Parts: sequence; structure tokens; C-alpha cells
Amino acid sequence: MKYFSIAIDGPAGSGKSTVARILAKRLRFIYLDSGAMYRAIAWRIINEKIDMKDSTVFRNLVQSTQFEIVSDGLLVNGEKIDEALRTPEVSRFASEIAKYPVVREILVKKQQELAKGHHVIMDGRDIGTVVLPDADIKIFLTASIDERAQRRYLELTQKGLKVDLQQLRDEIRERDENDQNRAISPLRQAEDAIRIDTTGRSIDEIVEQILSICCTKMGGDE
Ligand code: C5P
Repeated sequence: MKYFSIAIDGPAGSGKSTVARILAKRLRFIYLDSGAMYRAIAWRIINEKIDMKDSTVFRNLVQSTQFEIVSDGLLVNGEKIDEALRTPEVSRFASEIAKYPVVREILVKKQQELAKGHHVIMDGRDIGTVVLPDADIKIFLTASIDERAQRRYLELTQKGLKVDLQQLRDEIRERDENDQNRAISPLRQAEDAIRIDTTGRSIDEIVEQILSICCTKMGGDE
């Protein structure tokens, strides 16, 4: 049986996760938020006060972190920890630890394993270039930095968190720089990816645009 895979990459706040989640429901694909895996590693390092200079301990922590896709998200070592993964501290630190070869090597393997034997939508930074280089459909989502900061601001304030828009904008810019300039698997558009600028456009519009790309590619069957 042929399994379809859709890779969605792009910078923070470009709408990847929201769009991917809706698409997965509509298409009945599994959804893997690869960013949540980097966040989970960052969260564990902070919580368990891991000494990253100890390479054995560091490697063991990454290797021993188990991920399971469930209908409403991702379990980390059997637990749902979504809220804990969304704090500004974890966001910042996730982008730091994502530079380490050991982290990328292990997480990419885990992502490929989780995708095996399923129709899958995965979003992240290196999905179309590294994790699923043979994905049937590759999308690269972008949006202006102002709009991305505004989206994150709304997302966090709606959850009752106190955040400063200018500070969020600076943090997103810093993460963009980190993600685009790291030595291994930097954020970049795969050559065969379709670029979609989401600035000023609704989630629904983007979802419909990608669905129509999917219909063409997958022979019209949703
Ligand atoms: O997508 P999200 O913002 O949750 O990702 C958090 C961080 O994890 C990113 O800033 C990036 O540094 C890292 N990441 C990555 N490769 C991926 C997904 C996320 O390096 N495929």
C-alpha cells in the first residue's frame, strides 16, 4: 500500500501547526508536530537540570524520550504536556538545543519511525529537506515577521499569559536567525516545495489551497 506524506516547513508563527492539524483531520492522516519533539527535549533538560556537557547523559536523555502520536496530539513519555511546551523559555531553548547534531540525529530517526506505515502530515523546519525528502507534497509557509509576532501574541494572551508584543517579535527574529543559520539542517525551502505566503490570509484560505494541491496530487481522493 502506498502511504502519502505531506511536509510543511516554515518559520515560527507562519501557521504551520494550525494548518497541518486541520489538514490532518480533513484528510484523515496522522499529524506529527516535530517542533513539539524539540520542545520536549528542551523541557526535559530544563526540568531535570541535565548537564549538557556530559555527552552520555545528554544523549541518553534524547534517546530515552518516547513519543507517541494520539488522536489529539503527542504524548511525551506517556504524558500530554502541551501547555508546558509552549512557554517562551521552552521556545527559546528548543531552538538552542536544535543545533546539536546528537539531538537532530536521534529526533529525525524517531520522526521517520513515527511516520512509517501511515498517511502523514509532518510540520517543522527540515521535513521536506531531511526528514521526508520523498514527501508527496512539500509546502513552505511564510508570513511577515509582524504578522507572525501578532499571531503568537494573540495565541499566548488568549491562554491568559502576559506577553509583550515587541519582545515576542525580537524572540521570533532571534529564533529565525538561529534556525536559518545553524550548521546542520538549517531552515530552508526544499527545491520542490510550494511556497505560500500566509500574510493577510485566513487559515481557511490556506487550508483550501493546500487541499486543492493534495487533490491534484493524490488523484482527487480526500
Ligand atoms: O515549530 P516550533 O516553533 O514548535 O519549533 C520549536 C523549535 O524547534 C524551532 O525554533 C526549531 O529550532 C526547532 N525545530 C527544528 N526542526 C524541526 C522542528 C523544530 O529545528 N523540524
